Amino acid sequence: MKSLAALVGTALLVISAPAQADPLVTVTRAGSQPSTTGAAANFTGAVRVDSRFQGSAPARIGGGTVTFEPGARTAWHSHPLGQTLIVTAGAGWVRQWAGPIQEIKPGDIVWIPPDVKHWHGAAATTGMTHIAIAEALDGKTVTWMEQVNDEQYAR
Ligand code: MN
Repeated sequence: MKSLAALVGTALLVISAPAQADPLVTVTRAGSQPSTTGAAANFTGAVRVDSRFQGSAPARIGGGTVTFEPGARTAWHSHPLGQTLIVTAGAGWVRQWAGPIQEIKPGDIVWIPPDVKHWHGAAATTGMTHIAIAEALDGKTVTWMEQVNDEQYAR
């Protein structure tokens, strides 16, 4: 017959040995990350990036809030797994290669399918802010191409 201590020890073991603890929910506080500027190689005009986020593996989602001054835009580029844009302020434009410019406004949601060449940015005289969300494929979320010249931007 087992001793009382052995029985208690068994009970404690059962109670105190839960499955591996869940990862912690994290809150990244507003103001805890410095703003960064869009690299001149990949943007025209003044572009600021705030509130960057990145899921932990196996998640591969990431993004940030991007603010374009009037006339500012990305270079032509594509995303290996596509991109979602949620416009939060101002007025902007998005265009895919060989497609028309589409006006985008706060509340609009843009889906850019995988590997579609496109650009997005502010309208010519009004700034625009969007949240940009993309999943990484082999650690890569974007393939940068040539700049959007003034002729391509204006029409
Ligand atoms: Mn994009």
